Amino acid sequence: MLNTKNRVKINYYYYINSYEWKNKSRKFRKKTGYKCQIFPWLKAKSSHHTTYKNLGYEKWNIDCIVVSHSAHKFIHGWLAGSRRDIRVSQQNKNPKNRYPNTFQRIIHAYARIVGIVLYLIKFI
Ligand SMILES: [Zn+2]
Repeated sequence: MLNTKNRVKINYYYYINSYEWKNKSRKFRKKTGYKCQIFPWLKAKSSHHTTYKNLGYEKWNIDCIVVSHSAHKFIHGWLAGSRRDIRVSQQNKNPKNRYPNTFQRIIHAYARIVGIVLYLIKFI
């Protein structure tokens, strides 16, 4: 099956466990010098999807940001309106709180700015 951009539709669970994704995630983390884009004093442990629209075709700082463990829990927990972190599928069960909600959009915008700064700092 092809999506609207004539790309092969990717299965999330299959993809997220693939070598392709792990390799891409490592490349993304290298972009910031392995620093978290939300709490830059922490080490980026994973890549976080700000959108799932381009699954399999992600670009760093557009579709994904790199985050520490605590930042990731913060995005999928408190900002999702939950005391503990929940899956996006769980968050989307509330139509008024669909991912990314307003708080998550704001933190993603902030993280993209931090990402650009961290990227440029590597060249100083
Ligand atoms: Zn995430």
